Amino acid sequence: MVTTRFAPSPTGYLHIGGLRTALYSYLWAKKNGGKFLLRIEDTDLKRNSHEATKKIEEAFDWCGLEYDGEVIYQSKRFDLYKEYIQKLLDEDKAYYCYATKEELDKMRAEQQAKKQRPRYDGRYRDFKGTPPKGIEPVVRIKAPQSGVIEFVDGIKGELKFNVEDMLDDFIIARSDGTPTYNFVVAIDDALMGLTHVIRGDDHLSNTPKQIVVYNALGFDIPKFYHVPMILNPQGKKLSKRDGATDVMEYKQMGYFPEALLNFLIRLGWSHKDQEIFSMDEMLELFDPKDINSSASAYNQEKLLWINAQYMKTMPLTKIINSLKELGLDISSHPKSELLVDAHRQRARTLIELKDQINLLLNPPKEYDKKAVKKFLKGEWKDLLKNFLDFLSTKEANSPEEFEKLTEEFLQKEDIKIGKLAQPIRIAITGSSVSPSLYDTMAIVGKDELIKRVEKLLSVDSFEK
Ligand code: GLU
Repeated sequence: MVTTRFAPSPTGYLHIGGLRTALYSYLWAKKNGGKFLLRIEDTDLKRNSHEATKKIEEAFDWCGLEYDGEVIYQSKRFDLYKEYIQKLLDEDKAYYCYATKEELDKMRAEQQAKKQRPRYDGRYRDFKGTPPKGIEPVVRIKAPQSGVIEFVDGIKGELKFNVEDMLDDFIIARSDGTPTYNFVVAIDDALMGLTHVIRGDDHLSNTPKQIVVYNALGFDIPKFYHVPMILNPQGKKLSKRDGATDVMEYKQMGYFPEALLNFLIRLGWSHKDQEIFSMDEMLELFDPKDINSSASAYNQEKLLWINAQYMKTMPLTKIINSLKELGLDISSHPKSELLVDAHRQRARTLIELKDQINLLLNPPKEYDKKAVKKFLKGEWKDLLKNFLDFLSTKEANSPEEFEKLTEEFLQKEDIKIGKLAQPIRIAITGSSVSPSLYDTMAIVGKDELIKRVEKLLSVDSFEK
């Protein structure tokens, strides 16, 4: 069975690069009827926080990426890791190292002076004497001392690492007994039955070390996919300065999680020239072997465009719920669906939508000078007064009814809609831009429409 995982270290928030590898892992597991695990790598008790873990879980909830089973916390698995450390010690595949910090510093300085790569020289590898007193030893694994470690990466192809260039007997347990990162990752990936490990290629240099652990414990090695980074438009590593990197900031900026996932799948993977993918299509088409082998560039405009496409087709009730989470509750408004539908063609984000809806919900505080100058000319006042008189004798509720009624008025007065439409828009929203006139009328309703027109008529003079 295909098993994948997302394994964040909770040091801050969920980064969009992390969400992308999580999505890739999720899709591959679900596509194959397999399992997708969420494992929190919180063994570094000094750097990890409970709050950061909560933030990651919250971001997962928002995106709707469902993991199988409970969240797994590495911090609860220390006893298990200790067993494996002991096993390697018992089998003479690992050993205690008593080298002091001073000793190691000296060793490193000597290597540097000889222009050698700094590496642990294995001085305690075969130590059989009496351990020096007062030193809490670390545990080091016996890594190969020469040769190559090779594996076929699902994205980068065949990779070979020269042991002498990058490996030494690395530490698997610190002097306080806590296990180290590469050790626990390998143990967990093996014990949890991971078949495919999809992660950022910033982890590529860890993989040979993890392979050493797999081999020492006789575990099967999963298939690795190292995904190239997301870069900024200048080709540098994406950072806060380039825009939001925290997934939850995208929620606050008014993006749909579906659109963000769509954007992220396309950053590094493609299918012909298709841009919009539903979750079903992603599941059908995604294969990690098709992930691009070169880095991808973050493009904010593209995200906005994708979000705008989702805005046009997202179920109205879902948009209403999302607006509520962003502080605008229109759920009890009698025309809530029309409110959204009338505006969504012109809104790229939920924040733009919220601002536009707010403009319509509240009577205008001021009138756009340019619009006033351009459209409130000639007999506009008489025209609006006549319209008010006409309106007060009629009933209308839906956009269609307002349209019918307005047409009747236009015929009676023998004028064209152009003369009436803009003054009414200005009365309703304060500006000459608004959605369809009849939608707007139906949303505010007859009584409020009359009030707003009366208010415009009562202005003595407009600011120049
Ligand atoms: N915990 C690591 C990180 O947050 C990821 C480990 C992995 O995917 O192997 O960067």
